[in-house]
Amino acid sequence: MKYGMVIDTLKCVGCSDCVVACQTENNVPIGYCRDWVTESVNGAYPQIEMELKTERCNHCENAPCVRCCPTGASHIIEGGIVLVTPNECIGCGACIESCPYDARYQHPGGYVDKCTFCHHRLEKGQLPACVSVCPTHCMYFGDLDDPTSQVSQLLKSRKHKVLAPEAGTKPNIFYLVK
Ligand code: SF4
Ligand code: SF4
Ligand code: SF4
Repeated sequence: MKYGMVIDTLKCVGCSDCVVACQTENNVPIGYCRDWVTESVNGAYPQIEMELKTERCNHCENAPCVRCCPTGASHIIEGGIVLVTPNECIGCGACIESCPYDARYQHPGGYVDKCTFCHHRLEKGQLPACVSVCPTHCMYFGDLDDPTSQVSQLLKSRKHKVLAPEAGTKPNIFYLVK
């Protein structure tokens, strides 16, 4: 079992419903976020295209944030989900520095926080909050190890990319592109 997310950049409209859903579901303090929407312009005039996409922790297979954590607070659980145990975190920020995606933040409670793939919802058989509210259904979540899963099928049939592949982190979030 390896959890992963597949996000269709052709369907994202940048509404930020995913961001609001995450903040509500996970009690993210005001002024902070576990996910966010980016906008980039690709190509050259007149062939210009705007790409909107929702980003969060990539639950990297080769996670520098886990390797550098001095207390073991940052760890990987079954399914490849990268988590932080708040009461083991000393807030040193080494993981924040090591993440090429800027996916972590200092929680005012004195520990580091980030996307959990909504582990608490998965345990109840529910989809991550951000995935479940997306009005254009541009986000897919499932088992990358299962060749019959929707995420695997999408990766088989569509062109895709990961963010900052040069960082060598082996992200488990994939973006479908044209
Ligand atoms: Fe760690 Fe950043 Fe990768 Fe998430 S995206 S697993 S915080 S290196
Ligand atoms: Fe580990 Fe917390 Fe330090 Fe991050 S801030 S490296 S989770 S102890
Ligand atoms: Fe937030 Fe959950 Fe989506 Fe991660 S999977 S961005 S924690 S709603």
